[in-house]
Amino acid sequence: MISFQQVTKKYRQKVALDKVNLKLTEGKIIGLVGENGSGKSTMLKLIAGLTYPTKGEVLINEKTVNRRSASIVSYLSELDEYYRFYNVEKTIAFYASQFSDFDLKKAYDILTFMKLDPESKLKELSKGNRGRLKIVLSLARNAPIILMDEPLSGLDPMVRQSIVKGLLSFVDLEKQLVLITTHEIRDLETILDEVIAIKDGTIIGHHNVEQLREEQNLGIVEWMTTIYE
Ligand code: ADP
Ligand code: MG
Repeated sequence: MISFQQVTKKYRQKVALDKVNLKLTEGKIIGLVGENGSGKSTMLKLIAGLTYPTKGEVLINEKTVNRRSASIVSYLSELDEYYRFYNVEKTIAFYASQFSDFDLKKAYDILTFMKLDPESKLKELSKGNRGRLKIVLSLARNAPIILMDEPLSGLDPMVRQSIVKGLLSFVDLEKQLVLITTHEIRDLETILDEVIAIKDGTIIGHHNVEQLREEQNLGIVEWMTTIYE
């Protein structure tokens, strides 16, 4: 469904991604793990059509990604400054007006699960609660591809597990591909179908989590320690 073919992305002289090849199929929750600056956000932006490869191609369903890809890709980079005077409710209404696949009922179901107050102003939300709102907004779209850039950072470690488990109930695992970036793989271990490790713009590992367990008898965290040595 998503394919990277020899994708290199440079920002002036800086190589953010170096000849990345990758194939991702639907119906999976995939973790993209790597240290800060390794190229995770760049990969998501390329899939969302918000930036373009310097060389190579990113394809969705065999078509080159372009700005119109936003209609099938649910992606939120940062909640913009523009909306900081909106409250949660108004922000949800705004997103509902922007995307025809936005499911308002689902948004409020997730909001309730996240224990967010619809009246809160965005500029008053803690980092953790902005993370919760990001999860609400991106999962409320019935889009075939959902990209979440570090949705858990800023959340209290105590609540991460329950939020991660909750995510599952709002994903349509038959139809949707969910790609989540993190630098804390431990939080996602229980829900991932596949894990991809990236380092300095290069994919250094890509595995099916179940196979990893069966064939190499490794959990994701153990696997990570073997490849980052
Ligand atoms: P990650 O999300 O894993 O932290 P990024 O994809 O944001 O990594 O960044 C990869 C590399 O590209 C980093 O070295 C970063 O400094 C650089 N980079 C990202 N965006 C830009 C930009 N707009 N201009 C210049 N360099 C950038
Ligand atoms: Mg990033």
